[in-house]
Amino acid sequence: MIQSIDHLGIAVRSLDEAIPLYEKSFGLTCLGREEVASQRVRTAFFDAGGVHIELLEPTSPESPIAKFIAEKGEGIHHIAFRTDDISAQLKQAADTGVRLIHAEPFEGAAGKLVAFLHPKSTRGVLTEFCAVKPGAVAAH
Ligand code: ZN
Repeated sequence: MIQSIDHLGIAVRSLDEAIPLYEKSFGLTCLGREEVASQRVRTAFFDAGGVHIELLEPTSPESPIAKFIAEKGEGIHHIAFRTDDISAQLKQAADTGVRLIHAEPFEGAAGKLVAFLHPKSTRGVLTEFCAVKPGAVAAH
């Protein structure tokens, strides 16, 4: 079951250039940075009342984020829903005709399990399901 919006992913060219907007202009606190090598991104997280903002900077021209920025510019990249059962959530989506990018969840930022749905099946919105790994304590 979907429990909440977990975070919004925002594609940026540079974390160092984007972080001051969230810290100085919006007054949010950066909770941390992390590199997710499998996705070729560096992330920075902010908490906005329980919903996180996840800034995504590409680490390589081959990064999906680099391709997104090249095509569309910086901006909202994806919405992530937190679920208590990511496998059941993926099955429900697939069973109702939604195209999955990842049929099996993998480890994303903050040690969460994540999987993406194809935006062509979700009205143009790249959609992520994420779940805290069984036995893990959510860092953010
Ligand atoms: Zn995400």
